[in-house]
Amino acid sequence: MTLFYMTINGQPVSTAGQFAVKNPATGDAVGHAPNGSSEHLDRAVAAARAAFVIWSQTSDKIRARACRDIAEQIGKHAEELARLLTLEQGKPLNGLGSRFEISGAQAWAAHTATLSLPVKVLQDDAQGRVELHRKPIGVVGSITPWNWPVMIAVWHVLPAVRSGNTVVIKPSPHTPLSTLRLVELMNQVLPPGVVNSVCCDDRTSNLGAAISAHPDIGKVVFTGSTNTGKKVMANAADTVKRLTLELGGNDAGIVLPDVDPKAIAEGLFWGAFINNGQTCAALKRLYVHEQVYDQVCAALTDYAKAIPVGPGTDEASILGPVNNAMQFDKVKRLVDAAKQKGRVLLGGAPGEGLFFPPTLIADLSHDDPLVYEEQFGPALPIIKYRDIEDAIRQANDSPNGLGGSVWSSNIEQAKQVARRLECGSVWINQHGAVQPNVPFGGVKSSGLGVEFGEEGLAQYTDIQVVFG
Ligand code: NAD
Repeated sequence: MTLFYMTINGQPVSTAGQFAVKNPATGDAVGHAPNGSSEHLDRAVAAARAAFVIWSQTSDKIRARACRDIAEQIGKHAEELARLLTLEQGKPLNGLGSRFEISGAQAWAAHTATLSLPVKVLQDDAQGRVELHRKPIGVVGSITPWNWPVMIAVWHVLPAVRSGNTVVIKPSPHTPLSTLRLVELMNQVLPPGVVNSVCCDDRTSNLGAAISAHPDIGKVVFTGSTNTGKKVMANAADTVKRLTLELGGNDAGIVLPDVDPKAIAEGLFWGAFINNGQTCAALKRLYVHEQVYDQVCAALTDYAKAIPVGPGTDEASILGPVNNAMQFDKVKRLVDAAKQKGRVLLGGAPGEGLFFPPTLIADLSHDDPLVYEEQFGPALPIIKYRDIEDAIRQANDSPNGLGGSVWSSNIEQAKQVARRLECGSVWINQHGAVQPNVPFGGVKSSGLGVEFGEEGLAQYTDIQVVFG
């Protein structure tokens, strides 16, 4: 059985206790992860603090080079990382699965090299000169979830390093192995201490909570559930940490009456079922106008029933199992409740182990739990509407505000509806696409701050103005 290590100050660190990470497709152990303690976290933070002294003074050129070197490392080890990710996360190697995630992580790392935050001259006249500088914050604590663990690790670590910070990252106990390996690979091209990893089982030790409160960490970047995000915020208050929080979503899609149902079925399906629905900005509630309701339900069902579901290591699989039992139970509970009220178009009953087939349930209404709770799994509720004002009101009647989409053959009309949705990103005739040059973040309880692009990079810095 492979034993994985944390990386602290460039060195592999093992622990007295470990925990097994299970393959969701089989229940077999994939490897053993270290169960780190607060002493390990203190060591990692001390290493990151020491490295910050030098790293924060390195040139822009060296930091850009480091991002490109990390991208190259990911590329060289892509198949190894993809296989490890499939084994611990469950997502297939193919389709929008592990190979897609690893190549996305590589592209993101390379793009981060091209970003910069030049000095801004705010005033330069007879009264004087004022410059705005962006300075790295210090040690960044990164806390990541289990759905897109490698991609999200890159989203957190790369902008931190690019802007002169050093990092301690803690992955989810459901998917720690690919991140521990990723940090080892980063350490082959970075000075010791710039990126460190810690890991724990969240039962005997909760290093996420300890990172959020640590006095020598200046910023926390957290991706995960809204409930845990609130705890991070509360724990970070004492030390006034800078925060980026990417939290839960319950994205609505609104289908206008002028669509071609067959033409939008594929986009609707992947908007909702990418990564088995375990995606923050997946389409989680679908509002369809009554004029095209039956046709959209039929086209979506036809598309969905042809998708092969199976173990991620099988090259033929396009969707895999749900990642963990807690998430599986949540999906099952919401689907069971929805079956009482709605009409099952496809799926609806669990498969073996953690497998749950793509499930479509029509004729639901706004007050059904599958509609108003975030399911984070392979089940899509479909709601019929007559009046667009009702659809917009229901879409906005949520504490979440991550993404949303509008589907129409009239782009201008779709944009008018889009602008009225309370969310950070709105897509027209697609759902959930993110890009490294475009800021991404949620409004309301879906988060605080943005990632990606120059706006995302700026969040890893403090402003200093220089007069004179
Ligand atoms: P989670 O909140 O349970 O866990 C996220 C991370 O927080 C894990 O590393 C966990 O170990 C850690 N953690 C646990 N207790 C903590 C504490 N008290 N303080 C600090 N950290 C702690 O979330 P999850 O189940 O891994 O992920 C699923 C959720 O994440 C969904 O709600 C989804 O919508 C959200 N998500 C959001 C985005 C986004 O960008 N908005 C992206 C991915 C996932």
